[in-house]
Amino acid sequence: MKKKLECIVCGRIFYQGQGIVLDVGGYTLTFHSKSCAMKFFKTLLSRLTGEEIKNAIKEVLDEFSLKLSEQRKPSSKKL
Ligand SMILES: [Zn+2]
Repeated sequence: MKKKLECIVCGRIFYQGQGIVLDVGGYTLTFHSKSCAMKFFKTLLSRLTGEEIKNAIKEVLDEFSLKLSEQRKPSSKKL
């Protein structure tokens, strides 16, 4: 039997395997949809301040822009 989970943002009940479940910082975050997850993370990010968050954002930005530039690189293998 599949486990029932509750969306922490809107309270909707959904089954394990649906929605988004994240383990972060010792908490299990359960969202029934991407939009609820976005709502949560937007609020979370707006609460975070200081150098640590700036550094974390920069690291993640760099990571994604590196991936993007690798994807955009013309590769002879793919053609
Ligand atoms: Zn929800």
